[in-house]
Amino acid sequence: MNTEKKAMPMLEHLNPPSITQWPFAQNACLGCAMCSSVCPVAGVDDFDPRKVVRMVALGLTGEAAAARWPWICTMCGKCEQACPMGIDIAAMMRALRSLREREKIPGILQDGLANALRTGNNLALPKDDFTFILEDVAQEIAEEPGFGDFCIQIDKQGAGVLTTIHNKLVNTHTEDLKHWWKIFHVAGEDWTVASDNWEGTNWGYFTGDDEAMKTMVGRIVNNMRLLKAKTLLWPE
Ligand code: SF4
Ligand code: SF4
Repeated sequence: MNTEKKAMPMLEHLNPPSITQWPFAQNACLGCAMCSSVCPVAGVDDFDPRKVVRMVALGLTGEAAAARWPWICTMCGKCEQACPMGIDIAAMMRALRSLREREKIPGILQDGLANALRTGNNLALPKDDFTFILEDVAQEIAEEPGFGDFCIQIDKQGAGVLTTIHNKLVNTHTEDLKHWWKIFHVAGEDWTVASDNWEGTNWGYFTGDDEAMKTMVGRIVNNMRLLKAKTLLWPE
């Protein structure tokens, strides 16, 4: 581990849990670097999952939490499949993120999460705007050959499938909605979208905020109950 190359700030405010409170089996690490060899972002800003595991094993939890590295990890889990010791590296990265002061979370994640908790989606998009966009996309599909009878039924009761929506699909990537909606249509699927709490991206999960994560998951479960949908499609 090269701790001299980039000095990492100590976080005085943190009171990191002791090693025994971090049940990620990090002490079993062999230093074999199998995790590093499969990690798709190894090398980005000197990120290396093995380094992070070793830091936690050495009790440098606060330094690891203060580094940018836990936020570079995509939490894809490839490293865990490669690790001969079964170390839960993605969960460790998330636990390190949870130690960050919320106002020091990188990028737009915390603002988006605050929006989601307040309004039901990361963009704080008003309900009328959301339904307008969905209906506009549906109209565009209906104008295509072979889809003349296409329509979207928002908040349909008892649908076979309730699907969540990624916020970018009603912002910059509306074209991407069309592909799967067309598949639903051609397959004869009975599907719907909720007009409230439709956000499929759970930044409570990604930022290590368990309470926010549970709130957002609970809203989707509640939508399933309210709409009496049979199956949830949650493509995030
Ligand atoms: S979970 Fe993180 S550390 Fe592991 S392979 Fe994926 S990006 Fe790399
Ligand atoms: S693959 Fe597992 S044992 Fe090997 S260096 Fe990575 S965390 Fe340690």
